[in-house]
Amino acid sequence: MKLPIRTLMGPGPLDVHPRVLAAMSQPLLGHLDPVFLDMMNRMMDKLRYVFETKNELTLAMSGTGSAGMETVFVNLVEPGDKVIVGVNGLFGTRMADVASRLGAEVIPIEQEWGLPIAPEQIERALTQNPDTKFVALVHAETSTGVWQPLDEIAQVVNKFDALLIVDAVTSLAGIPVQVDKHKIDACYSGTQKCVGAPPGLAPVTLSPKAFDVLKQRKSKVPNWYLDLTMIANYWGQERFYHHTAPISMIYALFEALTLIEEEGLSNVYARHLLNGRALQAGLQAMGLEMVVKEERYRLPQLTAVRIPDGIQDTQVRGLLLERYGIEIGGGLGPFKGKVWRIGLMGYSSSRKNVLLFLAALEDILNELGYTKNRNLAVEVASKFYASAIS
Ligand SMILES: *Cc1c(COP(=O)(O)O)cnc(C)c1O
Repeated sequence: MKLPIRTLMGPGPLDVHPRVLAAMSQPLLGHLDPVFLDMMNRMMDKLRYVFETKNELTLAMSGTGSAGMETVFVNLVEPGDKVIVGVNGLFGTRMADVASRLGAEVIPIEQEWGLPIAPEQIERALTQNPDTKFVALVHAETSTGVWQPLDEIAQVVNKFDALLIVDAVTSLAGIPVQVDKHKIDACYSGTQKCVGAPPGLAPVTLSPKAFDVLKQRKSKVPNWYLDLTMIANYWGQERFYHHTAPISMIYALFEALTLIEEEGLSNVYARHLLNGRALQAGLQAMGLEMVVKEERYRLPQLTAVRIPDGIQDTQVRGLLLERYGIEIGGGLGPFKGKVWRIGLMGYSSSRKNVLLFLAALEDILNELGYTKNRNLAVEVASKFYASAIS
């Protein structure tokens, strides 16, 4: 089938580097071929690099980011366990759902969409429930664009001796995910966001403490496919067949992680920050309002911006796609029809995309009679680049 070429600037998937696409067209190897097994070993090291961890149990699960979420919860949580979940967007809601399906006693800590969870909220919940086993948070809430600071909360969780679970689907390789520094016990991600590969794998890492919790379970992991005790035997020395690894996706992730190594993690973070802030400066110059008011809580790789009054969500997104081949995301849940979500992740986090998108949006909003636009977006963003780089 003949497919159009798009510029993907939504919440994922994003455009990937041509080297990643080329890697996927390499001939298949058997999933127990020594060359493939060597690739998997090296992949674990590359994943440890992006997760900033020494955790032995660091691998890529077959499936998308949600499979990473299921993996962490299904392996660690047993019926009756108390799990505190930060709920300030769609993905916090999903974690609470996943945990409750496992029979956990979920304690949701709610916060308005667009704001982070405060350390005091977690501290209060832990004081009231000192027998809490897990605290789960979304590091980069893709439904709102909130950057959840982890420093203080990690200290609180540690003080109460609970285990910290972090959703890093949109944060990994976009903003620092410091698994060891923050003593995160279980962390998962997906490949189609900042990691820069197509959807299909879910990087997961477990601390030795979390691995012990898994080994000391009273009951079997209630999901055969995602059971890490068996999967670890395939990724480990024993190489027991469990399920057939998605070979071409492993090639893709390997290449995407190699690109990150070549650029260097700190440069990768700096690039995401620069392009994100340039986009946000441009959008604000158009008179548009950010969902996340305070810049320190605003993700650079996913910007949620309010749709101005009188402008129709689907009309603008339709024109962006039709005229420019640009895809951005709409709002989810309470943000449906009210918010646009613009992704600058991985390979798509580029100055080219920022300036192209701002010019395209100005063109369309002018045509639709949006009067607050002073046609300054591209100029302001360019100036932002000039001042940031000099
Ligand atoms: C995208 C996303 C997920 C789910 O990942 P899928 O690949 O869509 O299954 C989970 N959490 C967050 C924060 C996400 O952005």
